[in-house]
Amino acid sequence: IIQHRHKVTVQQHAVVFLGKNRQKPFANNMLSNYYTTLYLEQKMTITLHNLGFPRIGKKRELKFALEDYWNGKITQAQLQQTASALRQQHWQQQNKMNWVPVGDFSFYDHVLDTSFLLGNIPARFANEKSNTLDQYFSVARGRSAGSQSSCHCAHAGEMTKWFNSNYHYIVPEFNQNTEFNLHAENLLNQVKEAQQQGHQAKAVILSPVSYLWLGKSKDASNRLDLLESLLPLYRQLLQQLRQHGVEWVQIDEPILSLELDKAWKNAIEKTYRQFNTAERPKLLLTTYFGSLQQNLPLACQLNIDGLHLDTINAPNEVSQAITLLDNNKVLSLGVIDGRNIWKADLEKLIEWLDPIHQQLGSRLWLAPSCSLLHVPVDLNSEQHMDSEIKNWLAFAIQKLDELHILAQALNHGKESVRQALQQNRAAMKDKANSGKIRNPKVQQRLKELPDKADKRQSPYAQRSQSQRQRFHLPLLATTTIGSFPQTAEIRQARKAWRLKEISHQDYITLMKKEIAYCIEQQEQLGLDVLVHGEPERNDMVEYFGQQLNGYTFSEFGWVQSYGSRCVKPPIIYGDINRPQAMTVEWIEYAQSLSNKPVKGMLTGPVTMLNWSFVRNDQSRAQTCLQLALAIRDEVLDLEQAGIGIIQIDEAALREGLPLRKSEWNEYLDWATYSFRICANGVQDTTQIHTHMCYSEFNDIIDAIANMDADVITIETARSDMELLDVFDRFNYPNEIGPGVYDIHSPNIPTVESIVALIDKAGTRIPAERLWINPDCGLKTRKWEEVIPALQNMVKAAQILRKKVQKG
Ligand code: GLN
Ligand code: ZN
Repeated sequence: IIQHRHKVTVQQHAVVFLGKNRQKPFANNMLSNYYTTLYLEQKMTITLHNLGFPRIGKKRELKFALEDYWNGKITQAQLQQTASALRQQHWQQQNKMNWVPVGDFSFYDHVLDTSFLLGNIPARFANEKSNTLDQYFSVARGRSAGSQSSCHCAHAGEMTKWFNSNYHYIVPEFNQNTEFNLHAENLLNQVKEAQQQGHQAKAVILSPVSYLWLGKSKDASNRLDLLESLLPLYRQLLQQLRQHGVEWVQIDEPILSLELDKAWKNAIEKTYRQFNTAERPKLLLTTYFGSLQQNLPLACQLNIDGLHLDTINAPNEVSQAITLLDNNKVLSLGVIDGRNIWKADLEKLIEWLDPIHQQLGSRLWLAPSCSLLHVPVDLNSEQHMDSEIKNWLAFAIQKLDELHILAQALNHGKESVRQALQQNRAAMKDKANSGKIRNPKVQQRLKELPDKADKRQSPYAQRSQSQRQRFHLPLLATTTIGSFPQTAEIRQARKAWRLKEISHQDYITLMKKEIAYCIEQQEQLGLDVLVHGEPERNDMVEYFGQQLNGYTFSEFGWVQSYGSRCVKPPIIYGDINRPQAMTVEWIEYAQSLSNKPVKGMLTGPVTMLNWSFVRNDQSRAQTCLQLALAIRDEVLDLEQAGIGIIQIDEAALREGLPLRKSEWNEYLDWATYSFRICANGVQDTTQIHTHMCYSEFNDIIDAIANMDADVITIETARSDMELLDVFDRFNYPNEIGPGVYDIHSPNIPTVESIVALIDKAGTRIPAERLWINPDCGLKTRKWEEVIPALQNMVKAAQILRKKVQKG
């Protein structure tokens, strides 16, 4: 480094240091001091690096290029061009880092990239006559560019959540015959690309063990058995990276933040033992999204050259890591939150890091806690955000600036970045004291919450009688989950209203027309409990967030959810309250059109929380409770307006589960408490529904029962009611509507298939407590699909009722 920066020769240095070691006065004292300072400086200099950058582009350039390519509007060469321009721009934006990540870019998903890197392509795609990029998109989407949705393509790779984030990866598929072969060209080309642009490239790869862990075995074989055949490929890959001049490889081992059994721990140990030090670049073992706990000693002992810890989640593990790590190994601390959008308190960090820096010197590296994939790209894109709130935020680019300031302060003293620190301090102070954040009324209300606020007046068995008397619903009552098709006209109307192209009155008229149409359709179908159809909502969280105090919204705060799909999570910055009713007028209007009950439709507090960027100055539990109180107000207003059935969706309850099972109960306790606070202030005669759209809740069924909703509707159709196995062991006490058909597919379910599913469900749950409904909202479907599907559903219900009555 000295050589590079100061253009002196190695020999000159040797003279200086030899001179020093022999403790002979050196001829040129000044020169000696100069080199000694440089030498010491080098020994103390912190290295900065980034674990990954958002790929999508600050204006979602990659999304649009991908979709254009899939629709045949641009060529593959054009797509490649956009991708390489984005990589170039992103590396440029990371140029204050000593090492930029290479291999973090992806056309769809980095786990799928790893599958292609390792030549693990599901057999049903293997024979496709196409180049690898199209093959890659086929696995991702079940169809290649240009082909229509009606094609008979193989089904896409399964998608699932990347740990506890809202990013989805394509699940690798394995069986006992899976063979791997290395295709490193893409990665190596990107390494070259970065190097040619003058960057120090740190290659990012997913470890073989985490890769296996993330996948699924399609036969009963143990996927760990495949490790043996993966290791030679990884050795080869590392060797090739080294030959390409890569000095450091970031090898991601995220499963170290999970509770691992012995077999997995052994697999990790073995893997690194087999990576021969002489033949490979240096390895930075990277963990994130949580603490390592029992796995920390294991991680520190591995045959690696550095370890990255997520100190946002586990600041307490640093001192132990320092003790356990050999003193030639690097310790990288993820001190900037890669999962949230708040500015870091830099002075606090400096204070904490200073002694660590003194101890570790240049062995200390700094980075964001995880890849910045999970935050938006650039705060400077936001031109319309409240400037005070904007000053509290940092997106990806700003987070790298923060890292740079930290390193400057630690390397050269706080004076060297005085102005930046001053600005940061001012932002922290402003945020701490801002009247926008704290609302004494909300705080007071939380304090005064009565003990019984989360309890219904009577237990289910009793209140269900009052509800039966009120609604006179048939056995196996039919309903839907809330939304009806969001047609182009509806979207158009909402947009025109937002842009003030049509008057508020015109907008209301258009929406009411749509609601009336939905009610009419449902009446004709003969459904028992109706909905208004949700035409006024673009998104189930944003719609409510926009009407609550304490929420703000970005214009370009996109985060990749999967492939080309992005979400723009709203931002909770302050105490939440509801200034006025949010849905009552729409539901009242819908109810006025029918004698059948119309459900009030709300999003629950846990889902609001889990799909937002959440403030970090109080616990998530506390913020959730504030949301619960705001929605409780809406529930009570709906009840007051005569709405007898209210559905509170908790689509994302499961997503908030901590990575470690040992921490689940704590989360489930406050999450279900928040739900009950929001739902349970009602009279016995008011029926509370909730809805969840996933099929695995066997392991949280007790918590779900604890929510004490009168009716829960869930996704079961895709798993063929397998989910209901849980009711063999657990006697779910209230009513349940297991989804009878998959709304994600355009296929029309047959009457027989629905009858068969409910028959199956009926073996576990008595007909008195069963409902019949689709497995989620219908907003993504077309009316032509919805009508025949619901007709069949209603027919199936009629057949089933007759069956039950015959006994
Ligand atoms: N009520 C919502 C709807 O029908 C529920 C959406 C969801 O569960 N994701 O669209
Ligand atoms: Zn759903």
